[in-house]
Amino acid sequence: MAVKHVALLGPPGAGKGTQAKQMVEKFNLVHLSTGDILRDEVARETELGKTARGFMDRGELVPDQLIVDMIRGRIMAAESGFLLDGFPRTVAQAEALSSFASIDVVININLPRVEVVRRLTARRVCRGCGKIYNLTFNLAEGETTCSDCGGELYQRDDDKTEVIENRYDVYEKSTAPLIEFYDKLGVLRTLDGSLGSEVVFSGISDILTA
Ligand code: AMP
Repeated sequence: MAVKHVALLGPPGAGKGTQAKQMVEKFNLVHLSTGDILRDEVARETELGKTARGFMDRGELVPDQLIVDMIRGRIMAAESGFLLDGFPRTVAQAEALSSFASIDVVININLPRVEVVRRLTARRVCRGCGKIYNLTFNLAEGETTCSDCGGELYQRDDDKTEVIENRYDVYEKSTAPLIEFYDKLGVLRTLDGSLGSEVVFSGISDILTA
């Protein structure tokens, strides 16, 4: 497989995290999720975490320079190839990225606002291994632990209804312009995120093995 530098694009809740977990296993890529890295910084109460927390809780973007400084070294160290999940999220981030790494393919997973809200309010995440569950698809009522590792399942603070709407607005205003940005570069491939996660993964696999 020639494709080694991959980025996932799409609104929150489109399934980027779920797809990413399967993709890194199958294609031997380093998973770089800026959201996961930031949540870890917040949990460890680092300076970056303390700064980022307010933005995250409001569903706003953390300033570009902080994000680029946080991720640059990790991208440059991922010699076997990387999967970017949640980065870049603005045109300024994409421009910064292009100064230190090339991108072979950007997989854009589409999902309309109504479906984003429906999915995110039902999302639960494992504190132990990060596995993503959904009350509607794959979690029995009353189940509070992860079937893989036994970790506690929790609802992200920014998956509360009032924050979700704002996150979608931010996506439309700041992140959706990247669709045109990467389309112009000829690396964009778009998939319908409302199809089941197996169908989306099969589409991604086709793209990455073509
Ligand atoms: P995610 O897990 O990708 O939904 O990200 C959760 C939150 O982290 C976002 O709502 C932002 O506040 C912040 N965040 C994650 N990635 C970025 C990024 N590339 N640029 C700015 N903020 C980000």
